[in-house]
Amino acid sequence: MRKQIAAANWKMNLTLTEAETLLNQLLATEHNLTSNQEAIFAVPAIYIPLATLKLSGKSNFFIAAQNCHPKSNGAYTGEISAPMLASVGVKHIVIGHSERREYFNESDAFLAEKTDAVLAAGSTPIFCCGEPLVIREAGTQNTFVEAQLINSLFHLSVDQITKVVIAYEPIWAIGTGKTATSEQAQEIHAYIRSVFASKYGQAIADQISILYGGSVKASNAIEIFSQPDVDGGLVGGASLVASEFTAIINALK
Ligand code: PEP
Repeated sequence: MRKQIAAANWKMNLTLTEAETLLNQLLATEHNLTSNQEAIFAVPAIYIPLATLKLSGKSNFFIAAQNCHPKSNGAYTGEISAPMLASVGVKHIVIGHSERREYFNESDAFLAEKTDAVLAAGSTPIFCCGEPLVIREAGTQNTFVEAQLINSLFHLSVDQITKVVIAYEPIWAIGTGKTATSEQAQEIHAYIRSVFASKYGQAIADQISILYGGSVKASNAIEIFSQPDVDGGLVGGASLVASEFTAIINALK
């Protein structure tokens, strides 16, 4: 049975005091995660020690990084590597968020290297894909997303691909308040699964968790997550409000 995941992406938000307050508020609520469900917090790197301390002992709660460099070490000022993150207990890393693709020009080939680095460190890539509005309006989102997956992930072995979590995030729905309908989400999630099935076989594709991202909130999470090929969400804005994110965690199937 594949994992159902609620992943928070704090992006470049919150001061230390605000981060601590949010974590305290989250901890004040009871979360009854089953063994099949995970809550993951992609916090700014500077808050990883705080979040690790606060969430220690919470089973099925994990801290994630929002990015890493593909090299293990070296003269890459300002960067953090996957082995460095693993050494402080961070075993989930978001790769290829649309903001990094757009503002930092991260290419499919570069994201393939990052994915390899995360897997080599024994960690889990949360690999983001998704189309801009013009592509959705042209109706070519399936082939657009398929190319992202082929270019960055199809070199992976069967064993490696089962360790990757996919986050499908239509760019037009990120931070805009516009959400894909649950039918639109299901349609493309099923397509993404079929892309993996064509390469790795249906049994392997059925093991891959595919999260939806794009203006997920407490009020729409249950409906979106109830779709058969949606295995939870990657959540930006609503993950900064404890009551919202708690409800999103509790909406997991
Ligand atoms: C995201 O940052 O990945 C995201 C989906 O943001 P939001 O939930 O704010 O749309």
